Amino acid sequence: MLTGEVRTRVEDIEKQFSVSEEFLKKAVTFFIECADKGLKVKNDPEALLMIPTFVTSIPTGKEKGVLLAIDLGGTNFRVVSVALNGDHTFDLVQAKNPIPVDLMKGTSDELFRWMAEKIHDFVKENHSNAVESGNRLKMGFTFSFPIDQTSLDSGTLTRWSKHFNIPDCIGKDVVKLLQYHLDALKVPVVVSALANDTVGTLLARSYTGADKEGKTKIGCIFGTGTNGAYEEDLDNITKLPQSIRNELKAKGVRKMVINTEWGSFDNKLRVLPNTKWDEQVDKLSPNPGFHLFEKRVSGMFMGEILRQILLDLYREGLILQQYRTEDKLPHRLRTAWDLDTEAMSLFEIDDSTDLKASELKLEQMLRLPTTVEERVVIQRLTRAIAHRSSSLAAVPISAILLKSHALDGHNVNVDVGADGSVVEFYPGFRTMMRDAIAQTQLGPKGERRLHVNIAKDGSSVGAALCALSSEF
Ligand code: ADP
Ligand code: MG
Repeated sequence: MLTGEVRTRVEDIEKQFSVSEEFLKKAVTFFIECADKGLKVKNDPEALLMIPTFVTSIPTGKEKGVLLAIDLGGTNFRVVSVALNGDHTFDLVQAKNPIPVDLMKGTSDELFRWMAEKIHDFVKENHSNAVESGNRLKMGFTFSFPIDQTSLDSGTLTRWSKHFNIPDCIGKDVVKLLQYHLDALKVPVVVSALANDTVGTLLARSYTGADKEGKTKIGCIFGTGTNGAYEEDLDNITKLPQSIRNELKAKGVRKMVINTEWGSFDNKLRVLPNTKWDEQVDKLSPNPGFHLFEKRVSGMFMGEILRQILLDLYREGLILQQYRTEDKLPHRLRTAWDLDTEAMSLFEIDDSTDLKASELKLEQMLRLPTTVEERVVIQRLTRAIAHRSSSLAAVPISAILLKSHALDGHNVNVDVGADGSVVEFYPGFRTMMRDAIAQTQLGPKGERRLHVNIAKDGSSVGAALCALSSEF
């Protein structure tokens, strides 16, 4: 359908976004190296963070109780009440609040005060008896940013990611900050566990009984950002002080859940693909040079990569030439982060005549009128970006399963619990990811024995499970 220069250019970009089998295998090997290093040492820029979470037991499905959970993701702040019924099922009531953009770049007091207010509103509405009786409810706090965790209910912020940048919060204990603001508002809630969304996803799948399809070996997120968690032998986590390991072992503990922070895999770009547009997106982000894997994979960045390429094609005189000068382009196309990845899921599968559905979406979202050819360009670029993103997603998953020998043995099946809007809603994301997994060292045989399942409300249920396991 495309001709001439436009066609050549689009084919060239598609090539830059293609992912080879050779690359996948090399990246898996390098991931294992970085993960192993991260279990041994702290503060090595080449290693993964591999954060010990102090979660040392995996739910059985018999857990019971009513707990609160909150989840500060990259886009929304959810407040949830979870009733664990003790039979692998749960009931859940939730309030979802979009995080105001100015709070992502303000002060920690502003952000945590706002969170405490939202929790207060929720508790008044859903747990009025706790407010009257003064009985404090336990709450699990899912905080999806890198944390230096020192126990189940304390941890200091290492650095921000996604759209967040609140410098005064770095180095502070986020549980203490939240508890301070809850107490100030007299909310009858104790923050009793600090969890990460990936850890929550792992625990939630275990609770709901993923066993039918094999044990849950990984909890992972593909939403605004991307990250994953798995269970590691305590003996391998040698960066944990010997005294702590001995203390845990005396209690019979053998394993601990590790939050890999794989969004930061290969920040030095030893193996990851790198295009001009990846570099532009990194420069625009609040944390240049960090989370470089995440910036090639997750929802916050896919749309922005597409926007960057479209701007370049315009500058090269290949599309949107009705706009004489760049300042005449629709404002939203010129504004960073305004092309939402959600729209790409529509472009990806648009099979309407002349891509009419995409035409409408582009007009609504970006106020951008387009020709059929331009929409074909957009669809092909969308598919190239999403294909690379989902193929890269195969790297950490394959690496962790290989590293922990999860698929060794006769007829073993494993479950990978996944959460986040990209993996849940992007058409074909999981299928493309599986195609890439089959090309790694796991091979088609390994790929067939692994099951990627969505952990609906995983991070909230997981945070509640963490809170339940804590001592009051
Ligand atoms: P959070 O990261 O806050 O937990 P989500 O898991 O909902 O939130 O992820 C939000 C991200 O997912 C945003 O970057 C958004 O652009 C993207 N997103 C939302 N819906 C879709 C969709 N249908 N297809 C692809 N990406 C989506
Ligand atoms: Mg989330």
